[in-house]
Amino acid sequence: MSEERGEGVVTLAPGREKSLRRRHPWVFAGAVARAPRGVAPGATVEVVAADGSWLGRGAWSPASQIRVRIWSFEQGEGIDGGFFRRRLAAALAWRDGLPGLGGEGGGMRLVNAESDGLPGVVVDRYADHLVCRFTAVGAECWRGAIVDGLRELLPGVTGIWERSEGESRGKEGLSPRSGWVWGVEPPPEGVEFREGGLRLLADPRGGHKTGFYLDQQGNRRLAGELAAGRRVLNAFSYTGAFGCHCLAGGASEVVQVESSAPAQAVAARHLELNGLESSRCQLVTGNAFQVLRGYREAGRRFDLVILDPPKLAESAAQVARAARAYKDANLLAWQLLAPGGVLMTFSCSGHMEEGLFQKIVADAALDAGREGRIGRWLGAGADHPVGLAFPEGRYLKGLLCRAAG
Ligand code: SAH
Repeated sequence: MSEERGEGVVTLAPGREKSLRRRHPWVFAGAVARAPRGVAPGATVEVVAADGSWLGRGAWSPASQIRVRIWSFEQGEGIDGGFFRRRLAAALAWRDGLPGLGGEGGGMRLVNAESDGLPGVVVDRYADHLVCRFTAVGAECWRGAIVDGLRELLPGVTGIWERSEGESRGKEGLSPRSGWVWGVEPPPEGVEFREGGLRLLADPRGGHKTGFYLDQQGNRRLAGELAAGRRVLNAFSYTGAFGCHCLAGGASEVVQVESSAPAQAVAARHLELNGLESSRCQLVTGNAFQVLRGYREAGRRFDLVILDPPKLAESAAQVARAARAYKDANLLAWQLLAPGGVLMTFSCSGHMEEGLFQKIVADAALDAGREGRIGRWLGAGADHPVGLAFPEGRYLKGLLCRAAG
């Protein structure tokens, strides 16, 4: 663990201090003129401009292309347990009373990494359970202080689970780690939490992300509000939460297409748990591209299509290939949409810019010979804030389109 004061100094190349002065929290390898000596990965370093002026204090990460993630831009602020407690308290205060989110027994993202001033730290709450994700070496070093801070600030929490996995840990020279961090007893495989009027299950041990896609909460409720009397196709449905909202909202029929059999098994449990008629819901396990093509050939039509594919572009280099896959999926969606139907289409690839995504959806409509309008731009909920100086924090984008009648 690092000391309260920085152990080393990182000097930037001339002109490379500009983004830090705008409070962007990353220092890339190419910006570093002089690296600190004898500083352990994750230790706190001082970052100074070429002229020696102080810029910020952050975590040194020699293995990563992001060599420093800034903890603080205040010269007088030391990085210690108190710092993490203050940042956690600020993240919780920011979310206090967010309309329609969290609440008793609900789910909410409590800490959204860089955008909450805690690079590499994600904390999600599912009812009384927390699931943490430490994805950068600095966050890893302060893991104990962060867990202590959470316990102190959230006395009602009964358990803390860790799911520190994913590609970003590898880039930081860290191996994956998941398991029980603290609590009365480890979380069950399905931690029940509420979303609107629904009872849903997050799986902190084996589920995607921290066990669920909390970022889509608001959009799922919106789908539920639009679903009355509609035939709904939910493609890339994971555990079927969009579909449950639609069934609860009075959809006449819901088809959920998902490639993961374990996720479909949870989707079936979700129907039971909420007393939703399985006769109105078809769970199809398979490749959505193939299944949707089959529906097109069979002349099937839907009045509401939800398209929420996985991250198809993992890097900037993959954007072109991902664009083709998004185009294919959206083309199928437009072809399956009944006249006057609604399409909710998403991209969770941070590298896919909103303008390009909109163009892909528009081109898909054109190729399908359909006309439509955008009714709303969609994104993650307010518990996933985006730092003003950190546009990279915005990854989930969506469009709600209505097809011409
Ligand atoms: N809308 C969901 C989250 C979807 S995440 C929710 O609100 O919870 C994307 C999902 O697509 C994942 O569950 C993943 O398993 C699934 N998936 C990935 N490739 C697929 C494919 N080719 N066909 C069907 N599902 C796929």
